[in-house]
Amino acid sequence: MIKIYNTQTRSKEELQTIEPGKVKMYVCGPTVYNYFHLGNARPFITYDTFRRFLEYRGYDVAYVQNFTDIDDKMIKKANEEGITVGQLADRYIAEYFRDADGLNIRRATVHPRATDSIDEMQKIIATLMDKGYAYQLEDGVYYDVAKFENYGQLSHHNLEDLEAGASDRVSSDQGKHNPMDFALWKLKKPNEPFWPSPWGEGRPGWHIECSAMIREHLGVTIDIHGGGQDLVFPHHENEIAQSEAANDAPFVHYWLHNGFINVDQEKMSKSAGNFFTVRDLVEHFEYDVLRFFMLTGHYRMPINFSGDLLTAAQNGWTRIKTCVENLDFVAASDRTMASNPNARADAAQTSLAEQAATLVADCTTARASFIAAMEDDLNTADALAAIFDLVRAANTAATVTDIAPDALQTAAATLRELLDVLGLNPTREAQIPAEVLALVDERGAAKKARDFARADALRNQVLELGYEIKDTPQGPKVSAR
Ligand SMILES: [Zn+2]
Repeated sequence: MIKIYNTQTRSKEELQTIEPGKVKMYVCGPTVYNYFHLGNARPFITYDTFRRFLEYRGYDVAYVQNFTDIDDKMIKKANEEGITVGQLADRYIAEYFRDADGLNIRRATVHPRATDSIDEMQKIIATLMDKGYAYQLEDGVYYDVAKFENYGQLSHHNLEDLEAGASDRVSSDQGKHNPMDFALWKLKKPNEPFWPSPWGEGRPGWHIECSAMIREHLGVTIDIHGGGQDLVFPHHENEIAQSEAANDAPFVHYWLHNGFINVDQEKMSKSAGNFFTVRDLVEHFEYDVLRFFMLTGHYRMPINFSGDLLTAAQNGWTRIKTCVENLDFVAASDRTMASNPNARADAAQTSLAEQAATLVADCTTARASFIAAMEDDLNTADALAAIFDLVRAANTAATVTDIAPDALQTAAATLRELLDVLGLNPTREAQIPAEVLALVDERGAAKKARDFARADALRNQVLELGYEIKDTPQGPKVSAR
């Protein structure tokens, strides 16, 4: 039985899906105007891990994670660089996938771009206008929060308190019915991309994007919606208000929110300037170490970030990898021949059989503990503890001369199975994209043909893709730059 903590009810609840065996899940994705930082990576890794676990337990998961490819930050950056918002989005979507692939975050079932759902957004806005939940002002269309009976249900705010808080702010929103009312459609300003609409040329507000992509790709009611804690209010509160008012149906059954990554007790964020991009960090640590680090804490708790903690994560991950490599090696080597099995007494054989049986039993225990931890609101910290228990047992067993290779193989297979649920692969090859490898091969052929100009050009092409080639006696070695 899988239990997850639902922000809306503030309690751990048993997961009961709309359709048996199927999960519809949506996660708010990145705004693609820059590389993502470690704080941004946390929801991607957390919900990818949850999806993997659901699939491990037999669920069929429809998983949607969007790209926000139109907003103020995108427009500003594109104008600064003299490119279109579309070009900016293309660039950072490609960069997202490079880091996500490195972190072993699986592709979602669909990765919709907000700008591909403008029609769906306009349909929802039109419905909200018809039903009296939205109104038009000079600069756009707004959602009338006071019309939605349960506004604040997710974040446990009530409208009076919110209004009181908002009235202190200097406000340029003249004409809004309520200070908490938010834009559904913003009429165009100079140098902004725009789309035609019944309310004038303009662009969508941020919140309506997710409501539209969810309805378009998953339907009116979904099982799970995930995101960072900072999205609870107002983003997710507003998604509920829009979707439930437009669709007359419940929107989300379980709301999941992950905690922040803190640096010196302060949330890692672009605005605070205390952020580390994943791209920068992988110059010092492997992608796998970053993923492992993220899973050492419970997803709802804050994680402190420091170089020392990453180094500790690296040591932990290395222990696991070394164990699996050693098991593979020992199980494959034929030690029985070397130590002459005929010379062994019956008593020694019995003891060997017992030790092998114990290791196989340890595998079963580790798997059960792992599943129990993951079923308890995705407790990856305890799940890793179960893996380390098995690592200890396996390391001990691997030192026993003549222990049955089958038992060692079972231990290695069990570790691989459980690590895969966490998105960790202890024997993963360095993640070099196929495109790069093809260029490296081509360069090898050019060198063989003594076409050095072509070989140099290909090396530069590889460099441009962010990888470098080192020629070693064993052949060319490719690594991320
Ligand atoms: Zn969203």
